[in-house]
Amino acid sequence: MINKKIAIITGITGQDAPYLAKLLLEKNYKVIGILRESFSVNLSNLDYLGIKSKVIFETCDLSNMASVINILNKYNPDEFYNLASQSSVGLSFAKPTETLSFNINSVINILEAIRITNNKIRFYQASSSEIFGDIDTLPIKETTVFNPVSPYGISKASAHWIVVNYRKAYGLYTTSGILFNHESVLRSNDFIIKKVIKTAIDIKDGKQDILEVGNIDIKRDFGYAPNYVEAMYLMMQKEKSDDYIICSGKSVSLKEIIYYIFDYFKLDKNKIVVNEKFIRPNEIKDIYGNSSKAKQILNWNYDLDFFEVLDIIINEELKR
Ligand code: NAP
Repeated sequence: MINKKIAIITGITGQDAPYLAKLLLEKNYKVIGILRESFSVNLSNLDYLGIKSKVIFETCDLSNMASVINILNKYNPDEFYNLASQSSVGLSFAKPTETLSFNINSVINILEAIRITNNKIRFYQASSSEIFGDIDTLPIKETTVFNPVSPYGISKASAHWIVVNYRKAYGLYTTSGILFNHESVLRSNDFIIKKVIKTAIDIKDGKQDILEVGNIDIKRDFGYAPNYVEAMYLMMQKEKSDDYIICSGKSVSLKEIIYYIFDYFKLDKNKIVVNEKFIRPNEIKDIYGNSSKAKQILNWNYDLDFFEVLDIIINEELKR
């Protein structure tokens, strides 16, 4: 009998990890999902995908290297996907210390633990387009210089260099997936796309009067989460580890997206109200990437238009 491959995934309660866990379970992996605490845990995203009973849950404090070493010794995984992080750009301005501390130290702890216990474990880091920040030359490529403009972007840029350093200094298999924004029905309601869809439904149902927004002129390269986690898996199967940009290749303004959703529900656009409290101290104006390296080397395919993705999310949200 062939032994099952073992994968550990951190951030298992979030948006991406449940889609990745589902993909790996379909590929016959044993999947260990890391929780930050054992009480008041929200497993609804795993429940929604029908995989809650198939994932093995473990509590681990990623801020504590000994805790990570214990998990590695217990399972000796083939692959370690690090998806846990304080992932909100907005919140990172309110909580810079927590964001920088967790998003950087957790990565060092995991890589050190891998180096000490079994340096053959393959490591994936959830990096972000926010590491590039405000850049004049678009599209962004893997070679574009970093210029992050938020504590979140700075934390992910530092984590990215740590990942590169462990590859070069110790020969570890470390890969950094530089993903641009990606959405799904599993996205938390605190993030803009799900917030707009949820609020539009509430306005339609008479439960809310207005949608409050910040700067809606900004443009982002948005994609669909289930397709983006496939790239994470593909990156970890290559013989040599490397870093890849994963994106749709096009940017869309928040205004276009919000108007599309309001038109979908036939809502009056006067109900879209700017509230200063949602304007960030510093913000990327426009960003989009070029994922041809991932398409060529990983055979990763993506051709969804973001308005098609919006239709999928709205329909799922209405059924949910
Ligand atoms: P998400 O839904 O916000 O999930 C984040 C996960 O990290 C949750 O499981 C959360 O656990 C955990 N977490 C947060 N703070 C933690 C802490 N201090 N200690 C331990 N665990 C903590 O994020 P996602 O959208 O799935 O994204 C996955 C990863 O990709 C993240 O690292 C994110 O920064 C990165 N990324 C996402 C995007 C995107 O557009 N979605 C783009 C680029 C990069 P709790 O449930 O316990 O809070």
